[in-house]
Amino acid sequence: MYCENCCLLFDAAKCPECGRRGREVRDEDYCLLTEKQEMWAEMLADALRQNEIEALLRSVNGAALSLFTGPAGSFCQVFVPYRDMEKAAWVEESLFGPNAVFADEDAEDTNEENGSLPEGENEENENG
Ligand SMILES: [Zn+2]
Repeated sequence: MYCENCCLLFDAAKCPECGRRGREVRDEDYCLLTEKQEMWAEMLADALRQNEIEALLRSVNGAALSLFTGPAGSFCQVFVPYRDMEKAAWVEESLFGPNAVFADEDAEDTNEENGSLPEGENEENENG
């Protein structure tokens, strides 16, 4: 079922978050894909849009999920339409998975880019 209030998919009859009764999910319903630090969430949303998936971001800093807030910065939830969930999961995997472009290692000294921000205005097309 799907909760319109929380944009959450779940197996039970009622939403585990807010207790509302769920309804059948529709293709265009936004569903929670993942939750990441803001900068990664924005990067993911960017990659999703490049794959023609319209992603929504919602900051979860503070209130609801204090567990996740910390020195690392604010977190964002990433929502995608239900019909695009599989593709979105694939995009996420390609960004953050084991074979990711941005492998999450503690090697800070990459020599490929010299201090450019992720949200650059120039796009590079490699093996497009
Ligand atoms: Zn709910």
